[in-house]
Amino acid sequence: MASIKELFLSNVAQVVDNPSALVVERAEGVYLYDAENKPYLDLISGISVSNIGHCHPKVVHAVQDQVAKYMHLQVYGEFAVSPQAKLATKLLSKLNPCMGSVYFTNSGAEAIEGALKVAKRFTGRTELISFKDAYHGSTHGALSIQGSEEFKQGYYPLLPDTKILNYNKLDELKAITKRTAAVVVEAIQAEAGYIVPDPGYLLALRARTREVGALLILDEIQTGMGRTGNWFAHLDEGFCPDIMTLAKGFGGGMPLGAFVAPKHIMDVIKENPILGHITTFGGHPVSCAASLAAFEVLEENPEWMKEIPEKSAIIEAIMQHELITKVSGKGLMYCITMNDQFPVGNLISTLEDRGIITDYFLFAGNAFRITPPLSITTDELRTGLNTIIQTINDIRA
Ligand code: PMP
Repeated sequence: MASIKELFLSNVAQVVDNPSALVVERAEGVYLYDAENKPYLDLISGISVSNIGHCHPKVVHAVQDQVAKYMHLQVYGEFAVSPQAKLATKLLSKLNPCMGSVYFTNSGAEAIEGALKVAKRFTGRTELISFKDAYHGSTHGALSIQGSEEFKQGYYPLLPDTKILNYNKLDELKAITKRTAAVVVEAIQAEAGYIVPDPGYLLALRARTREVGALLILDEIQTGMGRTGNWFAHLDEGFCPDIMTLAKGFGGGMPLGAFVAPKHIMDVIKENPILGHITTFGGHPVSCAASLAAFEVLEENPEWMKEIPEKSAIIEAIMQHELITKVSGKGLMYCITMNDQFPVGNLISTLEDRGIITDYFLFAGNAFRITPPLSITTDELRTGLNTIIQTINDIRA
């Protein structure tokens, strides 16, 4: 009989040439386990999703409980679905009071699509501005604002009237004008290699968009749900985006996204025409129940967010090596860039053999990521990082 790996390689669509095809039997906390019960320390959280660890009992229970009550009911927005109403209320309670309305989606890309549509309707403009090496999803609209020509070139025509600026370059903000419908920006540029905004940069972007009447769409898809030490990264800077997008860790391990906006902005999708954005499974009751449980788990474990600066310091201290050329990031999202000659692919596969999971970035060159669940202990983190340094030495030898 064919193995799972063979069935995967022959029958499931492939998007790269040589996937590791690791077969995971189960996952718990910060570990994945294969069929031989070998543990793998998860340093990517698949990716930035399993913030509260895998299969947290509270989330598992919430899912089981909701599945037993009802799964799908009716396409978005008709019934008052209890897990959606409770989750929207919980999410808004964590945000600045300017935010007033949550639209639930299936994924991050769909959240971005909805946000772009709202921005076009609200402003009556079409120009969309984003940043070099930005990643906002793989659908046509999200791809149109992606900051990498290499990944876009096979898929034209895409949305017209898009413009790419360089992140962290204050002098380029004048390119945002009264023609601009929206500027879409990541709170930390994730797939570019965890590029942190310079102090004041996001505030300057906020001020410029407000000055010209463009909407600021803040993508917190990787940074949300505690990953930078706050519920959402922008809360540290105290500003209010016009639209915020969420996904990944937001679902507590289940597929869920959202775009969130002040009510007067969100309301443009309900008239002329009605049904401005609709989705059959967006805000699925089981996903919303899992997400609500994930919020409660984070509330019940406040030390996970409090300990993030200590864990960041551990990463910055241990990831020092003459072959490491750059350590960038914040919170529990770090990019380790290696010397150009170092075989990062070999490092990632050797680490997998040694029971450590890490991964590439889409646009960060010769680099790998450290994005563990927030529940990782300092000892587990140190052990994982020391194994990485040891493996770098072994590969160089
Ligand atoms: N925005 C960011 C910052 C992301 O990292 C991702 C996914 N990597 C997305 C949007 C798209 O999310 P999804 O894969 O759920 O469509």
